[in-house]
Amino acid sequence: MELGTGDVLFREGDIATTGFLVEAGELEIAISINGKPIVLSHLRAGDILGEMAVFDGEPRSATATALTPCVLFAIDRTQISDRLAKADPIIRALLEGQVKRYRGAIRAIRGVGRGEPVEQGSSSEISAGDKFRLETHLREALAGEGLDVRYQPIMHVASGRIAGYEALIRWNHSERGHVSPLEFVGLAEESGLIVQLGEYVFDTACRAVQRFIASGVEPKPFVAVNVSARQLEHPGLIERVVARVEAAAVPRGSLKVEITESRALDHALVKVAIDLCHRHGIGVALDDFGTGFSHLTQMHLLEFDTLKVDQAFSRSMLTGPRSMAIVEAIVRMAKALGAEIVVEGIETEEMLQALRRMGCDYAQGYLIGKPQTLDELLSAH
Ligand code: C2E
Ligand code: MG
Ligand code: MG
Repeated sequence: MELGTGDVLFREGDIATTGFLVEAGELEIAISINGKPIVLSHLRAGDILGEMAVFDGEPRSATATALTPCVLFAIDRTQISDRLAKADPIIRALLEGQVKRYRGAIRAIRGVGRGEPVEQGSSSEISAGDKFRLETHLREALAGEGLDVRYQPIMHVASGRIAGYEALIRWNHSERGHVSPLEFVGLAEESGLIVQLGEYVFDTACRAVQRFIASGVEPKPFVAVNVSARQLEHPGLIERVVARVEAAAVPRGSLKVEITESRALDHALVKVAIDLCHRHGIGVALDDFGTGFSHLTQMHLLEFDTLKVDQAFSRSMLTGPRSMAIVEAIVRMAKALGAEIVVEGIETEEMLQALRRMGCDYAQGYLIGKPQTLDELLSAH
């Protein structure tokens, strides 16, 4: 795109659709106060302009005029918004904060309001400030007290016996009370604290296995630990985890890993993790199957031992024959692949009956047991 000297690229108040990269020439950015222009900046080759209104969807805050003949390259809205969506949420929030502050400053210069930024965006999302605070508290919790692991029983359907437990992290925050793993595991992933958090859960789970063995409970239960696909992206994470499990000398087969697939799985990464786990006697389950991005085209490459069916399926299972048919098909698929199957979210006898009829291997849910502390479980034996 080319402009002649004096041409206006955009005006204050225009609706924005694109940003621009200056390839040659010089432009002036100005705002007008009581009809008088105030020049904010001069832009030259390599500078970007007009991106701010694309970020926040508000009208152009200033007017851009060519001071010399200019060559510009248009940056499409999606080129900006796609990158923003993929950016680290804290970086995104910082950027949004800067844009808000800038808009507020311009309003203040114009004498509109006292420069307070206009509140926008969803209030249900955790703000950057909250995230910083939570992250700091989580780091402290990892170093001290407040984290805890609960164990939820997994029942062998045919025999009715408890075959193992899923380790579920809990955080009892001093001010916020009980914080759900759905909230802080994501935060830990963003900040890298997931590495320590994972190690904490694995170490605790290994100790749980040893205490189960020492208690003499039969059959010896396994303990399954959750690992998110994003966790696996940390280089060397799974190697370190396996080394810790090895050092804890828990018997082969007594520890399992559940890989959550609710996010796009990097199949190559998961394959490497599965192979490594298998070499060390650690079984692998694909968790929350069917809720995320299960690429059936890639499934044959992953030699998982167990498929876990998300509670979304079991919840709808009894509502109609179509939902039931889907659960049955998943159970049959797992069996055909030689994998075991666990259906989660079993809350009623009726649901358990349906699993029995399908020949499903394992059931997990509030009917069988809620997540409990290790002491609660051991004292019940
Ligand atoms: P998940 O692995 O699918 O775990 C099952 C979740 O369903 C648990 O929630 C459990 O408490 C809940 N649940 C179990 N039975 C029932 C039931 O009958 N009805 C209902 N409504 N819910 C049931 P929780 O503990 O809040 O964990 C949520 C998710 O957080 C887990 O889903 C897992 O993906 C993740 N998570 C938990 N602990 C860890 C961890 O140590 N590391 C990682 N990376 N993720 C974890
Ligand atoms: Mg799980
Ligand atoms: Mg699950």
